[in-house]
Amino acid sequence: MGGICRTGDFMRVIRNRFIPFGRRFGAINLFGVLFYKPNISLSPRVINHERIHSMQMMELLYVPFYVAYLVEWLWRVVKCRGDLYKAYRSVSFEREAYQHENDMDYGSKRRRFGMWRGDQNS
Ligand SMILES: [Zn+2]
Repeated sequence: MGGICRTGDFMRVIRNRFIPFGRRFGAINLFGVLFYKPNISLSPRVINHERIHSMQMMELLYVPFYVAYLVEWLWRVVKCRGDLYKAYRSVSFEREAYQHENDMDYGSKRRRFGMWRGDQNS
């Protein structure tokens, strides 16, 4: 059985009207807490994706996660010649999360620093 309750180990979710700021964004994971707007439906896949980010954050002690994410994203923007979406999708944190978001048991199988192991390139 899936569902929101099972994600409690790594994921807290807060439904609210204000975070994330701006109309274009529906959900954001801040320090392991997923904030989402009332008009967004959180699928198990989305929750699992965000849960993988939460594990990456814990491993990197939160603040370094955001620093590493931002630096890699900027580097990818240059490498992808300004294609922001392509840059986002090629960030190692996103590659791991997208690769395994449909595997609901990934959390229990995941190896430390999975985003840098290259397993996601299969
Ligand atoms: Zn992501």
